[in-house]
Amino acid sequence: MVMGEKMIMKNKIALVTGSSRGIGKAIALAFAQEGADVILNCIKSKAAAQKISEDIKKLGRRSIVIEADVSKYSDVKKLFAEVKKNFGRLDILVNNAGIFEFGGKINEIPEKTWDNVLNINLKSVFLCTKEAVPLMKNGGSIINISSIYGVGGCDYASHYAASKAGIIALSESAAIELAPKIRVNAIAPGIIDTDMTANDTEENKKKYLSLTPMKRFGRPEEIAKAALFLASDNSSFVTGETLIVDGGLTKVK
Ligand code: NAP
Repeated sequence: MVMGEKMIMKNKIALVTGSSRGIGKAIALAFAQEGADVILNCIKSKAAAQKISEDIKKLGRRSIVIEADVSKYSDVKKLFAEVKKNFGRLDILVNNAGIFEFGGKINEIPEKTWDNVLNINLKSVFLCTKEAVPLMKNGGSIINISSIYGVGGCDYASHYAASKAGIIALSESAAIELAPKIRVNAIAPGIIDTDMTANDTEENKKKYLSLTPMKRFGRPEEIAKAALFLASDNSSFVTGETLIVDGGLTKVK
């Protein structure tokens, strides 16, 4: 943000799920820097989220942290009741919370593992969208964090890939239903430097680095810039779209 420039998220109220670290944290901070009040959410890392919330308040914005497991409807209802109580409405929802785990080949993935990944990554998007819509009284923008694996599949993680492909179909369906008041878009990040990718094998990291035309992994702040575009009026005619932010990885044949 350059001094004197108009802030593109002024007077907006935004909820970012899974915003205690990684991509969600970067999105929350970027929104606040552009003028938004930000509701943070996490499941375990309350202290980290609280610190981010304090930093957001130092910028002069309102911010609270709400712990909730977004895969559970009872938690999601409480989360949105808190949003309503504290802010009265919602303008932006970023469904970012998610987990990744290799599950093995499709015939090896335990049913429990499948259900867990689908519930946290995909059902959460349905549940949060369901509760957010009535609070988007002035219209709004919903951004769902998918993945390039939701566009092109992923071996040994078909449960993850299916959850992220589901997010794209859900976003497209919701975009049609909720227009013109609410826009719904997805972002499909490539490999981004966060806790989620830190534990990947050196072999995999090398493989993806060499395959990525930009020759580096993405930074959470680069996904935040895409989220800012989709959240703000800069994308006022964009809905039902999936924005791939992957340094060109999916374009390599
Ligand atoms: P991360 O660093 O592992 O952070 C995950 C975040 O999700 C944390 O804030 C975590 O909260 C929260 N979370 C996990 N389960 C939750 C639940 N049940 N309820 C509420 N919050 C929950 O992950 P990331 O890399 O930033 O990824 C963020 C999103 O981008 C995910 O949807 C991921 O699939 C997607 N993505 C990531 C990449 C990548 O390369 N990193 C690529 C494509 C897509 P706690 O801290 O409390 O555990």
